[in-house]
Amino acid sequence: MKRDIPLDDLQFATRCVHAGVYKDPLYNSVVTPIYPSSTFYFEGPRQTSGYDYTRTKNPTRDALEQNLASLEGGAGATAVATGMAAIATVLHLLPAGAHVIAGNDIYGGTYRLFSSLMPARGLRFSLVDMGDPGAVAAAFEKDTALVWIETPSNPLLRLTDIAAVCALARARGALSCADNTFLSPYLQRPLALGADLVVHSTTKYLNGHSDVVGGAIVAGTRELAERVAATANALGTTCSPYDAWLVLRGIKTLPLRMQAHQKNAAALAAFLAGHARVERVYYPGLASHPDHDLARRQQHGFGAMLSFDLEGGEAAVFRLVERLKLYAFAESLGGVESLIEHPASMSHAAMTPAALTAAGIGPGLVRVSVGVEDERDLIADMAQALAALD
Ligand SMILES: *Cc1c(COP(=O)(O)O)cnc(C)c1O
Repeated sequence: MKRDIPLDDLQFATRCVHAGVYKDPLYNSVVTPIYPSSTFYFEGPRQTSGYDYTRTKNPTRDALEQNLASLEGGAGATAVATGMAAIATVLHLLPAGAHVIAGNDIYGGTYRLFSSLMPARGLRFSLVDMGDPGAVAAAFEKDTALVWIETPSNPLLRLTDIAAVCALARARGALSCADNTFLSPYLQRPLALGADLVVHSTTKYLNGHSDVVGGAIVAGTRELAERVAATANALGTTCSPYDAWLVLRGIKTLPLRMQAHQKNAAALAAFLAGHARVERVYYPGLASHPDHDLARRQQHGFGAMLSFDLEGGEAAVFRLVERLKLYAFAESLGGVESLIEHPASMSHAAMTPAALTAAGIGPGLVRVSVGVEDERDLIADMAQALAALD
């Protein structure tokens, strides 16, 4: 097929548009068709088209998986129903009784899975400060089978040194998996830094338009990719062809969106850092951020998530969000529209008060997912809402 383009020599943005896309040799469609068929007929005994049942394999989902594997530099990918489905699928690669090391400020839903459901199924978790490789090294046990990395972390944008932590895991025979949702492969590629697996909530930047929930797992080796695909098929976590199609459409503009997102985020972070009502801004692009140098080394940009501590605590936060007109008061992130939320009562409400305090998530902390609107409008709206607090 003419459009069966060899990908290895192509740049990232070109692969966003073309990788995996061409699935219609009959009519030469330039857009991947949606194949909603749940089942595919056999041409004869043991003779299939390569597809037999959509939970297992589907041409539209294949297109997305090939695209994601190319963008992350992996050997294979599996697209699943949500980001949590991706994380749950990875945990099912582990043997009974396995021990997992993860950060103490991970995504709230991941924390819920790690702290409640999975311990009841026999997995054990140590939550440590992932910014401190010494603390990670000290947490290994005989049965440690997985090191879970989320960088930048949520909601405080702390960084983990991916190469250092993955080297520790490898030396001790454990798998390493990085949740790359906050940056997308445009800005960070953990497999190249030594991770075995990458997971995404494609709900966020990869789809980018706040109109689908989805997830993905990308594996560094063919053997691991096959184990992940078999596990997702057995669990039934794979995504629908419709959702795969939407995410694939979103990815085509990923580089353009990420450039616009992070330009706005840098401008908003600078504005907030200079505002009297704001006690502290957490954004890896600010020179004052403790992990700024690591961010420059490890990432291809600083991303578009930021948090800040507002003077006046929770009451001030709720007055601020009431006054804002452009920032929707909502969980989630990574869509074209700007969102603002209060981690202690929303995204991280599953954490106990003690865990919130230990992670440094205070009552005045606000998290912003900076969208792609005009930066002048975003700053003007934030300025009027902050002024109204006086
Ligand atoms: C949203 C998110 C998830 C979970 O993804 P869903 O699609 O909501 O299931 C996992 N990790 C991170 C970092 C996220 O932001």
